[in-house]
Amino acid sequence: MTIPSGAKFKVGAVDLTVVNDGMFWQDAGAVFGLVPRLMWERVAPPMDERYRIPLGLNCLLLRSRGKTVLIETGVGGKPGDRDVATSADDGTLLTSLAAIGVAPADIDVVVNTHLHFDHCGWNTSVEVDGDGAEHFVPTFPNATYVINRTEWDEANHPNERTRATYLSRNLDPIADRLELIDGEHAITDELIFVPAPGHTAGHSTVVIRSGQEWGVYLGDMAQHQVQLERPPWISSFDTLPLVSLETKRKLMDECIEAGALVAYTHGAYPGVGRMTRTPEGFRKWVDEQPLGGTS
Ligand SMILES: [Zn+2]
Repeated sequence: MTIPSGAKFKVGAVDLTVVNDGMFWQDAGAVFGLVPRLMWERVAPPMDERYRIPLGLNCLLLRSRGKTVLIETGVGGKPGDRDVATSADDGTLLTSLAAIGVAPADIDVVVNTHLHFDHCGWNTSVEVDGDGAEHFVPTFPNATYVINRTEWDEANHPNERTRATYLSRNLDPIADRLELIDGEHAITDELIFVPAPGHTAGHSTVVIRSGQEWGVYLGDMAQHQVQLERPPWISSFDTLPLVSLETKRKLMDECIEAGALVAYTHGAYPGVGRMTRTPEGFRKWVDEQPLGGTS
């Protein structure tokens, strides 16, 4: 399945490009958690024969104040990475970046909203040394990796529930490249890393503020837009679902108020829209068209 890449958006002076890492298949019931199938199957994409739905892998490249910033690194391309994800492709993040003229060495900052396998796979790659031995190395040789400190600690001390998603091969090679964050952190004065707990305790978003405009990259606060419209629709992957409910309700109402541009990882490409309120008072997602039309 070939998925387009390179859709461009703007928030004030900040340029955003959606760079995809392909897609993967996820168990539909797990995505919708406690919500009965009778309710979610009216709005979800069609399931395959194994009861899975396709999820996007929308990473975001931003240019702000002379810095090149990559939010999320998808499922990855190391041996075994795409098996975990039951994905339908080989992982396209690096070719998506190359298509817009960005080499791995150009990335100054990598941001992971959290460290589940489908958000940090391309943090690292395989390098073969002179003896033919394989090593995992940082994919982006000049980048600092911005990660919430609680998330880093939990990923490095997984429990029985989280150990299938926190993979040491995505983490160990970047251990000396980290900028571990407590609370909020200004990547530039236009890009703020902000805690948004619920999916995990250390899950964070990136808020984009420029001029009078703002936007937010939600990471894994939702896997489908209906979960943004209906805050109690929460995936079974969230470790703190009632915290997710509070975080999401508050942030979605702020996004409606501000007319913010909203992007998230697992939406159907490019996964960018705005939250609005209907005359009846319901929250509603509206797709945002890319600048210059669909790529
Ligand atoms: Zn995810």
